[in-house]
Amino acid sequence: MAARFRERGFVVRALLSGLLALTFVPAVLAAAPRERQGQPASSNAPKPTTVAAPLPPPRPAALPTPAKAAEPASVETPAEPERPAGPPICYAVFAERGGEALPTPATETQRPECAIEDPVTFREVNLPDGGKVTLDSAITVRCSFAVELAAWIRDDLSALAQKENTRLAKLTGVGGHACRPRNGVAGAPISEHASGNALDLFGLAFQDGRSVSLAGKEPELKPLREAIQRSVCGRFTTVLGPGADASHKDHLHFDLKERARGLRMCQWAVE
Ligand SMILES: [Zn+2]
Repeated sequence: MAARFRERGFVVRALLSGLLALTFVPAVLAAAPRERQGQPASSNAPKPTTVAAPLPPPRPAALPTPAKAAEPASVETPAEPERPAGPPICYAVFAERGGEALPTPATETQRPECAIEDPVTFREVNLPDGGKVTLDSAITVRCSFAVELAAWIRDDLSALAQKENTRLAKLTGVGGHACRPRNGVAGAPISEHASGNALDLFGLAFQDGRSVSLAGKEPELKPLREAIQRSVCGRFTTVLGPGADASHKDHLHFDLKERARGLRMCQWAVE
């Protein structure tokens, strides 16, 4: 009797679980009977008054997770939004004007209070005829200043040298970036040198060995100094030289400081 019930129970269970298992993959269907066959048949089991509930079908989670299913998701990760690549356009203009950029030393960018916008470090400007003009030391300045300086060297100063029947070779006594107040005076407003927007210059040297000191007093070189003054005051918004104040009696300072109403300063009493 008990055996008959078990037999009937088995048949019903098999039918029901077969129907349920049909909703799962064939692997589940194949595994289910093996599990039930493993059940011990106990003669002490209470007589079933109702049809035994079918064993729950194996959970789909028990199936081995197909490893490849997750991979396409990572492949389809949306690409990062496109960002403009490369240096600011100013760097390209600088190179176009003959500037030859060098790596900027880390020491030039370490102090945030004297940060330079788009810094450019360079020592040479290439001329259209293949020649080079060298600065006696490398300077680091703001790119917009570097562009104007390269153009001044390449277009204006080179043309002045040609009129002197020579070629420009070097800028001497150059000073660019300096993290300090104006004229080095404590408490004074911050210098344009601190933002890489200025240059100090003592003189020019030519390929034929001649040179001109901008603070010099040789009468024969006065026309050349006056021509240099016209060109530098035409390009830069501040020019301070001998005669401006005590700090500039032996060199020329020029920068691209922006002032209200486009005010410019050209203070250099050429001798
Ligand atoms: Zn200066």
